[in-house]
Amino acid sequence: MSKDYYKILGVEKSASEDEIKKAFRRKAHEHHPDKKNGNEQAFKDVNEAYGILGDKANRAKYDQFGSAAFDPSSAQGFGGQGGFGGFDFNNAGFNVNVEDFGDLGDILGGMFGFGGGRGRQKRGRDLELEVDLEFKEAVFGAQKEVNIYTNNECETCKGTGAEPGSKISQCETCKGAGKVQQQQRTMLGTFNTVVVCPACHGKGEKAEKDCGTCSGSGIQKKERKLSINIPAGMSHGEALKLSGQGDFPGVGGKAGDLYIRVKVKRDPVFVREDHNILSTIKVPFTIMSLGGKVDVETVDGPVVLKIPSGTEAKSTFKLRGKGVPYMSGYGRGDHMVTVMPDVPQKLTREQKKLLEELQREGL
Ligand SMILES: [Zn+2]
Ligand SMILES: [Zn+2]
Repeated sequence: MSKDYYKILGVEKSASEDEIKKAFRRKAHEHHPDKKNGNEQAFKDVNEAYGILGDKANRAKYDQFGSAAFDPSSAQGFGGQGGFGGFDFNNAGFNVNVEDFGDLGDILGGMFGFGGGRGRQKRGRDLELEVDLEFKEAVFGAQKEVNIYTNNECETCKGTGAEPGSKISQCETCKGAGKVQQQQRTMLGTFNTVVVCPACHGKGEKAEKDCGTCSGSGIQKKERKLSINIPAGMSHGEALKLSGQGDFPGVGGKAGDLYIRVKVKRDPVFVREDHNILSTIKVPFTIMSLGGKVDVETVDGPVVLKIPSGTEAKSTFKLRGKGVPYMSGYGRGDHMVTVMPDVPQKLTREQKKLLEELQREGL
């Protein structure tokens, strides 16, 4: 059965090595079985195609003889002639450089268990915490204490996994190289991959004694108290990123980040609209008609608002600069006050008499 590996990768026969590599990454992503629209067979085909076209010598043979060259059951196959020694994709010996996979290497790594390869530094999980804020705390910022239970850098060895004072010598597992070759048998064949040495985490040297506190893992699980400076102006649902405050992944790794997501409580008086604060106040209908002054509650405390005569219900007044501070630290939004007439529910005998007189006047 002849397979068109160029077609499988979607490239021209004249494609460069780089184009083939890129096409492989794209196709492998597209068909990855862990994906929603993944297709295991297509994924295998893509990998098979790359196993041939991604290798100069294999590609040359393929260009000359077609896929039959790699089929041991074929008369043309090199297997029969001893050239390929029974090249079989289910047990193939082709080397795959995990670098070729790009970030897919991590996915495959997770799938086949050779994660942590490629010499990349391990990164711990990001964590998220919610913090409740009062309306005014969100406006002006706040200092909040939170407790998080995480994997932390071991205090005794500072995350190195080595017993303090212990003699450091060359790692026996990798002979100081920091890397070891691993062979992985997978459904795609056997991968020879170079991974970070699991014994020394890539350092090439190792302390004679593991840290007694963390047994050499570098990790100490414990509760941490954090004092968080919430800046002024954060709004409900926004998150603050604290770099390096997430989970510590162990020796040789880097802690993830911590996200502090703020939840702002509803306020009985104020409503926030971007950087403006809105509120509604009741004003005696006599003031709305004749004009006058009223006290308005703002986040900065009460201010006096002048109501002009003949003010209609639902009129809005702007209290400049009494809104929410901008995150840049410069300037603030405004406070918009909507006035509603306060219609008295109870009247004294005298008030009633006066109102009745007004009514007779046609008001
Ligand atoms: Zn330790
Ligand atoms: Zn080592």
